[in-house]
Amino acid sequence: MAKTMARKKTAVRAGSKKQAALKRRSTRRMSPSAKVAPRAGAARRGSRAPARGSRGKYVYFFGGGKADGDRTMKDLLGGKGANLAEMSRAGLPVPAGFTISTDACTLYYKQGRRTPASVDREMVENLRRLESAAGARLGDRDNPLLVSVRSGAKFSMPGMMDTILNLGMNDETVEGLKARTNNGRFAYDSYRRFIQMFGSVVREIPKAAFEHEFEGVKQAVGVHFDTDLDEDALRDVVERFKKVVRKRSGGDFPQDPLEQLRGARDAVFRSWNNARAIEYRRIYEIPDSIGTAVNVQMMVFGNTGERSATGVGFTRNPATGANEFYGEFLINAQGEDVVAGIRTPQPITELENVMPEAYRQLRQITNRLEKTYRDIQDFEFTIQDERLYMLQTRNGKRTGYAAVKIATDLVEERLITAKEAVLQVDPESLSQLLSPVFEPKAWQTLPVATKGLPASPGAASGQAVFTADHAVEWTRQGKQVILVRKETVPDDIHGMFVAQGILTATGGMTSHAAVVGRQMGKPSVVGAGALHISERTKSFTVNGQTVREGDYVSFDGLTGEVKIGQVATKPSEILQVVAGEMNPQDSDIYQRFDKLLTWADKFRRLGIRANADQPDQAETAYAFGARGIGLCRTEHMFFGEGRIAIVQRMILADNEADRRKALDELLPLQRKDFYGVFKAMHGEPVTIRTIDPPLHEFLPKREDLMVEIAKMEAQGKDGKEVEEKHALLRRVEQLHEFNPMLGHRGVRLGITYPEITEMQARAIIEAACQLAKEGTHVIPEIMIPLVGHVKELRDQKAVVDRVAAQVIKEQGVAVNYLVGTMIEVPRGATTADEIAQEAEFFSFGTNDLTQLTFGFSRDDIGKFLGAYQDKKILDKDPFATIDTVGVGQLVTLGVQKGRATRPKLKIGVCGEHGGDPSSIHFFDKAGLDYVSASPYRIPVARLAAAQAALQVKVGD
Ligand code: ADP
Ligand code: MG
Ligand code: MG
Repeated sequence: MAKTMARKKTAVRAGSKKQAALKRRSTRRMSPSAKVAPRAGAARRGSRAPARGSRGKYVYFFGGGKADGDRTMKDLLGGKGANLAEMSRAGLPVPAGFTISTDACTLYYKQGRRTPASVDREMVENLRRLESAAGARLGDRDNPLLVSVRSGAKFSMPGMMDTILNLGMNDETVEGLKARTNNGRFAYDSYRRFIQMFGSVVREIPKAAFEHEFEGVKQAVGVHFDTDLDEDALRDVVERFKKVVRKRSGGDFPQDPLEQLRGARDAVFRSWNNARAIEYRRIYEIPDSIGTAVNVQMMVFGNTGERSATGVGFTRNPATGANEFYGEFLINAQGEDVVAGIRTPQPITELENVMPEAYRQLRQITNRLEKTYRDIQDFEFTIQDERLYMLQTRNGKRTGYAAVKIATDLVEERLITAKEAVLQVDPESLSQLLSPVFEPKAWQTLPVATKGLPASPGAASGQAVFTADHAVEWTRQGKQVILVRKETVPDDIHGMFVAQGILTATGGMTSHAAVVGRQMGKPSVVGAGALHISERTKSFTVNGQTVREGDYVSFDGLTGEVKIGQVATKPSEILQVVAGEMNPQDSDIYQRFDKLLTWADKFRRLGIRANADQPDQAETAYAFGARGIGLCRTEHMFFGEGRIAIVQRMILADNEADRRKALDELLPLQRKDFYGVFKAMHGEPVTIRTIDPPLHEFLPKREDLMVEIAKMEAQGKDGKEVEEKHALLRRVEQLHEFNPMLGHRGVRLGITYPEITEMQARAIIEAACQLAKEGTHVIPEIMIPLVGHVKELRDQKAVVDRVAAQVIKEQGVAVNYLVGTMIEVPRGATTADEIAQEAEFFSFGTNDLTQLTFGFSRDDIGKFLGAYQDKKILDKDPFATIDTVGVGQLVTLGVQKGRATRPKLKIGVCGEHGGDPSSIHFFDKAGLDYVSASPYRIPVARLAAAQAALQVKVGD
């Protein structure tokens, strides 16, 4: 019973599938939230690589208004490289450089972590070309070329891999740079940055070792900001850093620039397989096989002084989707300074005042990029002595809200078509729009403790934790946590993933916490400067109040308000509209959501039904756009108020007459349930499954009963009451099974107790008759579970037909109905042609089909799934995303065989996979008529089905 109840609960909660998967796995590697694995792309690449051998092209040049590559070549050049090539072609101010392809990365790993000589030769050739384009040479003492060495895979993995800036610096070139720029401070600032990056990335020395020295110098000089250090102080830093390298890596910092370049290149290849990159790929289902490209690019400098700057931005607001220029910059800074929270950056609109010309040009370029890519752009730029350079552009990651707003806006602006809008939104992100908001009254009663930047919308309430590891640990114990950090770093990703929300003290709207929070659809407030956080004491203070680990914190990711205490949440605007508590006209987001899904409906081939057991669930599903019920589990109705006692009486009966008496009592209750469900579906088809679980699930546990009896007897009780308990215990023992999931359940119950099927068939047909009399015509689809042999179905179908004929005669109205079966045991699939002689429809029960095909119990898989994934035996949880190879083959076979017998056979799927986007792609291809998903997954399923029909996966 407990099992069934648990299943029921997960079936109706928003994002239920993820939650279930989450519980099953170790929390460290939870189920993905977005992205569909680009399997096709990987296969394409895989098959091509060997044919190219070592004579192929591995390096692609860009610069001077030209490029070897373009934006379509993400597989080979990575997103960053492809877009740098594209921008270069478009004549935008992009520093020249070249991209070493992902094929080279594959070779690097194939050859035991060594870059082949042929690739190296090509790199050096391109380096020479870059040198002549730049008019400077790597290692030249008078006019040194400096480059960045940047990672960049097909899918952006922000901050997960490594990048090195200012490569080419050594004791000689630093002086050359100083002389040329007449700026010793700048030269030594660049040098110290390079040694640190080289040391930590190539020699794998902990960053803290460098930071320790850097702080030491700052303290000795008595300054607070890095910008306050002068040349002499920076020279000191350089010397100290060199010592750190020597001491920590057992080798000197290399002075030879080509050695630096080779080391950096290989380190970037290596960073593809660092722990956090692997974790990131697991969460976002990015294949491990595709590898990263390496971009080597001429440096431009945002750190030459007050007339230089570096910044990042978005062409629209990535949290809300509002059409506003959005971003941050820092004067006299380089690279990651903006996102690292070293100094607080200024909002990008300020740039207009400081450097109007560069700002104007930036707006112009980014507008143009948005038109080229026809999507919101996330860009990086650097201004060197008031000259603007573009360093990166990519389609911006966004929240679910922003995704819907931007897609519908872009259509209105005629930048994209409705079809493209449908393809642009990640189906999974729609579930964010259904996530809760605060109960306004409860929220208002608490004072605002502080306000941070509203980085990612949503209401979050939970217990404060201060490390990612604790977030994971506490979540595993069933607690809801808020991860509170000064700032987050890529290593925190596992903790961010499990937290209800992320709260940081430093960093801007483009900081790591903000970017990742938005991407995960996790409520996030960042840069709440009033929080004084101590990781050591695991507490923070804010305006005189102290919050310790475990205390409750709540915040609103849409306004940035933070409060101390716990606040109840309530359904999102969209849910309120769906529940009829809010007028659609009053909700902009609902209207857009509805518009997008209405477009999706035009493109999809698959029908969408709901798994719903009760009238209210059916209503919600209908409001979300389900047209029909694919699975109504009747046994859930048995747990309702005052029903379980009747069910138990039915089970305990030792003769048919007593059993029928109990069933007669259940009949009117079931009839009422069915009537309600039919009515909620407004005449759309409703598939009702006859009783499925083993009977013991409706009885108390054996151990509990024994304890109860022992207690009663100890209290000296005897007589009727104790007798009854003993009888119950005897029956429980009789019903005990060694393998209940493989035991006396499903069709086997109907065969041994036909009176149960009779009662259910009667309740269904009577309800349909009643509705027919009221003018609503429903066609109930009566579904027999767990059929593996055609004769099982024949037996039960005869029972249903007999009862139906009788009821129709009694009621005097005509009602059509179908009898079909679930295909969920392998024999059902392999003999589907025979079964289709009886079955008028099929519904694949992919949960059981997965259990029985793998022989994995879905309730116990958590014990080994983690190990399976670590060892790469399985990529994904097969209960969350269908195993297309094995289980899928049975589905395909079942469809073929079923339709061979009955060409028009209606076929659907009602397992949890029916709400999973990648599984939906498979079901579309397999030729199913519909998918059935839990009510809150319906929007996701509608959009995924449209994308499946359009044959594109988001992310490709
Ligand atoms: P990530 O993928 O983590 O964003 P990037 O390769 O984009 O890493 O580089 C990190 C930072 O260094 C970015 O801010 C980027 O703009 C800056 N950067 C990279 N290459 C150059 C360059 N050639 N000149 C100036 N800044 C650069
Ligand atoms: Mg970048
Ligand atoms: Mg089943």
